[in-house]
Amino acid sequence: MLPGNGLISLTPQGLYCRAADVWIDPWRPVPRALITHGHADHARPGCGSYWAIGASAGILRRRLGQAIDLHNVDYGDVLTIRDARVSFHSAGHVLGSAQIRLEAGGESWLISGDYKRDPDPSCAPFEPVCADVLITEATFGLPIYRWQPGAEVAAQIRDWWLGCPQRPSVLFCYAFGKAQRILAELHALGLEQEVLLHGAVAALIEPYRQQGIAMPPTRPLSELPRDQGLGGRLVLAPPAAQASPWMKRLRGSQTAFASGWMAVRGARRRRGCERGFVLSDHADWPALVQTARQSGARQVYVTHGQSDVLARYLREVEGIAAEPLQGGGLEERGDPDGAGADEQVPEATGHAGAWLDGSPPETRTGDSESGGEPREALS
Ligand SMILES: [Zn+2]
Ligand SMILES: [Zn+2]
Repeated sequence: MLPGNGLISLTPQGLYCRAADVWIDPWRPVPRALITHGHADHARPGCGSYWAIGASAGILRRRLGQAIDLHNVDYGDVLTIRDARVSFHSAGHVLGSAQIRLEAGGESWLISGDYKRDPDPSCAPFEPVCADVLITEATFGLPIYRWQPGAEVAAQIRDWWLGCPQRPSVLFCYAFGKAQRILAELHALGLEQEVLLHGAVAALIEPYRQQGIAMPPTRPLSELPRDQGLGGRLVLAPPAAQASPWMKRLRGSQTAFASGWMAVRGARRRRGCERGFVLSDHADWPALVQTARQSGARQVYVTHGQSDVLARYLREVEGIAAEPLQGGGLEERGDPDGAGADEQVPEATGHAGAWLDGSPPETRTGDSESGGEPREALS
């Protein structure tokens, strides 16, 4: 639990900073909300005012309503809100994503939101930030999670797609963030063929183009004349489309799923896709550890996912005071509308101590049929 006298406390609405009288990514309506990014488990409707990075405004208005009271912030700006200094720093997670730093009374806290350190042509790069106390996510907080560069995964996607000129290639991926990252990576590989989109993906393309993110030409599948063949075409669709009538027109396609969860053995098979591409917008294990170390924090609180395992590692190996942060809605984050689903956690257990002989803690990451499959992420 967070100490009652710290700069940030946990209230029924979420993380709260009394000095600024603001909540950070609240899960219930509050008067003033600082938003790390537009995924539905971080940006919820109904708040009086919102502060967020300007680049995410298009996404936030689309998802929370055009009329929301939204204050645009730039990376690195220092705002004075009541008695606190507040700044937003790039999280490298999706377009406009931020870590939020708050400082008051000689104490500074950094709330990471979701983040990754791998290069991503669809958003600004991660910025290392120092603070006395760090609240970090740990969605992929197990040593088994180590990502390949996105450009390499994009090359695998390209080869899979271009290797099948007779049939359509349907790639399932989250509609906000992952789809645009894949498009930007394909563009960086020199691909300029038109890519077809499910409506949920198409709706979130324009905010990226407005921010100058280069992507191949795109068109909603629904706007393609019915008599046009789909052989050799790439189609991006959210996971929820997989079992929907929308797939009728794509009968006979080759299918694949792009997600960090594809690193979990058995996940692809259970998704019923022929291929799985391991591509995550969250920090992998080395990035989580590096970020905690680099922050210089004397105290780390770990939320989301494998919080026990990461906290124990930071204590036992890195010598940083660290503990899981649970309570309120912190561990029940899901995506209510499925369109912009964020990645969710599979179940896992870990024994620290195993670190010391070089083996990772015992894990259970979704191989049993009884559980482990990330639920919301796949719906
Ligand atoms: Zn997210
Ligand atoms: Zn999240």
